[in-house]
Amino acid sequence: MKIKRKCSGKIIAEALGMEKFDVIIVGAGAAGLMAAKILCDAKKKVCILEARDRVGGRVHTLIKKGFSKPVEAGAEFIHGKLPLTICLLKEAGIKYYETDGALWQLKNDGLKKREDFIEHAEQLMKKLKELDHDISITAFLDKYFDDAKYSEMKNSLQQYIEGYDAADINYASSLALKEEWQKEEDKQYRIEGGYGLLLDHLKNNCLQNGCSIHLSTIVKKIKWKDEDVEVITKQNDSYFSGKVILTIPPLLLTGEENGAGISFDPSLPLVTEAAKQIGYGGVIKIVMEFTHAFWETGECRKAEDLFFLFSEEKIPTWWSQLPDKTPILTGWLAGPKANELVNADDDIILQQALHSLSSIFAIDTEILQKNLKASHIHNWIADPFSKGAYSYNTTTSAAAKKILATPVANTLFFAGEALDKDSNATVEAALQSGKEVAEKILK
Ligand SMILES: Cc1cc2nc3c(=O)[nH]c(=O)nc-3n(C[C@H](O)[C@H](O)[C@H](O)COP(=O)(O)OP(=O)(O)OC[C@H]3O[C@@H](n4cnc5c(N)ncnc54)[C@H](O)[C@@H]3O)c2cc1C
Repeated sequence: MKIKRKCSGKIIAEALGMEKFDVIIVGAGAAGLMAAKILCDAKKKVCILEARDRVGGRVHTLIKKGFSKPVEAGAEFIHGKLPLTICLLKEAGIKYYETDGALWQLKNDGLKKREDFIEHAEQLMKKLKELDHDISITAFLDKYFDDAKYSEMKNSLQQYIEGYDAADINYASSLALKEEWQKEEDKQYRIEGGYGLLLDHLKNNCLQNGCSIHLSTIVKKIKWKDEDVEVITKQNDSYFSGKVILTIPPLLLTGEENGAGISFDPSLPLVTEAAKQIGYGGVIKIVMEFTHAFWETGECRKAEDLFFLFSEEKIPTWWSQLPDKTPILTGWLAGPKANELVNADDDIILQQALHSLSSIFAIDTEILQKNLKASHIHNWIADPFSKGAYSYNTTTSAAAKKILATPVANTLFFAGEALDKDSNATVEAALQSGKEVAEKILK
């Protein structure tokens, strides 16, 4: 129920004979929609408040002029046969397929197909396994790999952590890196038609089960006492419920002054402090469709069967759509280096992307520009409702996650990719976290 705010939630809701929702969910991303699906299935009265004019959050499949297939501006891959994602895809009748192709890298000895990207990988793993307490990656490298002969390996590892985990090595956890490598899944999948279909399935399921979803509704403040909450929006409207699930990125839990951030009354210093301890990295994603796959022909440096390509260019990482042959290349700039371009406008980023491709493939920028059919740039750091791309584990994040996983007065609950207990940074983690918090409420 929405009304203009005049006085405290309970009094006004009751005085006006308005029903409170059982649960208000802030955020209609994967975690929020998954939680809503379970709660609505259990006949709870649920309302979702979403700041954007669409559902999906960091899943954003676009149909854009000039592209011959949907563009994934956010999440794109399923990293392995992830149980909840696969189960929902089956339930919705959505197809998915395995990715294909070779890994290429541009180094001093040229552009080559490669298997190993990090030198001394066995030694690295051995030392990671010996760690008896957590330290940052920088501290780990300084302690065990100080010798000059490891400088190339240190550079490769830094690139991997910045590129894949969007993390800063000065804060990223060494124990988390060990775990990540131990359970690394090498098979990856894509969803036919895009990830957006999965989120639409969840949304439709919620709507069919009576959930109300309010888009373009930015939550600013949460006034709460035991099982009695007033959620106040930027437009100064109020919504009332017994419980609230917050699924926004942790960074937005750190205060009202922080753009789309949310504040609490009474304040929650433990929660805001914990949210600051969770690592959160930025990504700028550039999707470019060309007239043809110039990297497969002999007109420049060739990279046949190209899936992923790694380089040290300004936009260092690129991938194709294989096994789909649509001539699209996706550029990826992540971690601290992406922050350097946070205020750059799209034209500048596009020029950097063309320049990087020109150096990688030894082809004129003008030719690339002439062959470019369409492009899309999404700067997730500048996006006010995400302020970054996904979380990473720091040496203090395990304790912080425990704090955020504990409901406040059985009234305020937190969920989202950063809070899944087994992993983080993926759609699967967000779905699992949403499921877990909904089940906790139903108990
Ligand atoms: C570029 C990029 C690439 C990625 N690639 C992959 C990949 O290949 N595979 C993979 O599994 N994962 C990938 N991820 C990660 C994945 O997208 C996220 O982990 C997941 O989508 C997060 O879901 P969530 O529900 O936790 O958060 P979100 O999707 O961020 O949902 C939170 C919602 O809260 C809303 N919100 C924020 N503030 C407010 C407010 N004040 N009031 C109301 N609503 C608010 C937001 O608009 C958002 O819709 C990628 C992410 C990015 C950005």
